[in-house]
Amino acid sequence: MPILNRIAALHEQMTVWRRDIHAHPELGFEEHRTADVVAAKLAEFGIDVHRGIGKTGVVGVLRAGASGRRVGLRADMDALPIREANTFAHRSTHTGKMHACGHDGHTTMLLGAAKYLAETRNFDGTVHFIFQPAEEGIGGAQAMIDDGLFKRFPCDAIFGMHNRPGMPLGKFAVRSGPMMAGGAFFDIDIEGRGSHGARPEAGVDPVLVAAHITAALQSIVSRNVRPVDTAVLSVTQIHGGDAYNVIPQTARLSGTVRAFSSDVMALIGRNMARVAEGVASGFGAKSTTDYRPIFAPLVNDPQEADFAAAICGEIVGADSVKRDPALIMASEDFSSMLNEVRGCYVNLGNGDGEGACEVHNPSYDFNDAALPYGASFFARLVENRLAR
Ligand SMILES: [Zn+2]
Ligand SMILES: [Zn+2]
Repeated sequence: MPILNRIAALHEQMTVWRRDIHAHPELGFEEHRTADVVAAKLAEFGIDVHRGIGKTGVVGVLRAGASGRRVGLRADMDALPIREANTFAHRSTHTGKMHACGHDGHTTMLLGAAKYLAETRNFDGTVHFIFQPAEEGIGGAQAMIDDGLFKRFPCDAIFGMHNRPGMPLGKFAVRSGPMMAGGAFFDIDIEGRGSHGARPEAGVDPVLVAAHITAALQSIVSRNVRPVDTAVLSVTQIHGGDAYNVIPQTARLSGTVRAFSSDVMALIGRNMARVAEGVASGFGAKSTTDYRPIFAPLVNDPQEADFAAAICGEIVGADSVKRDPALIMASEDFSSMLNEVRGCYVNLGNGDGEGACEVHNPSYDFNDAALPYGASFFARLVENRLAR
């Protein structure tokens, strides 16, 4: 079965919604207008609306029949602090903010599916439509969970979707097991002893220590992580000193770590602190390491991945569903929800011609031609999972 007819009929309307959200981007936990729009539409469709879950998060609840089965569908609503370079009519009207990751499209596709499911009610069970704030690195998923998301709205399984520039329209990618990396940020503060730049013997040079720690940290991925596990550690900032002739008292290293399992993430954090302390003390300095996991690795349940892939196959044909896409080094905070409830995250083609501009780029735009595919995926998923 291709795109659902009734969803194809919604395409024009969804395009209007998507462009309206695109024109009014809001940063994480500031999605007040977007949440208003989502809540108003859900209510108009006849869906129960719950607001203020994870600050600006919204949950819609739709029941049909008597079965106790429950499925959760999640979209993200936040934009990025990027100045949009596009000049089309629906460009950002909020200077310095932009829907450069396609969350406007994700929100719209879930709204499209909600409208369809509320009208047709061709299922038996409960659907939780989860509209999440603040996906871009500030913990919107966790904020909803901490506000009791899955206690108030229990789900047997949850599903989410991200657009993928460069992947042709009408294609899906579904991976079993690890799919996207976990991410951590770190700061290493080095305390030396300041002195005159010409009298190093009177001090302990934290800049030299920072240089040695930077080099030594590269041994963690190459020597401590198993070669079959993928990981990356990047020192992306070195700060220290203000003058040509002063050896400073302190220096700071900062950066990021990515890996595909929580164990590897933790191992890197432990070894980082040990290496930094050991190198610093060898030079007579001190170091303190602040290692902060921000995103958990995103891991799809194999059974739910098979299920999601079968649904994608119903819409676009099995040949258009890639089952072994490469691991993605970027992170995604739907992983926090998948740590609570089994489920699967899928990728949807945003186009290899128009729509190929990478996300987080000032020229990016979600491809409206993808809307019916994503909305049909969510709708068919419910009709299948909660079949009457
Ligand atoms: Zn993003
Ligand atoms: Zn995104």
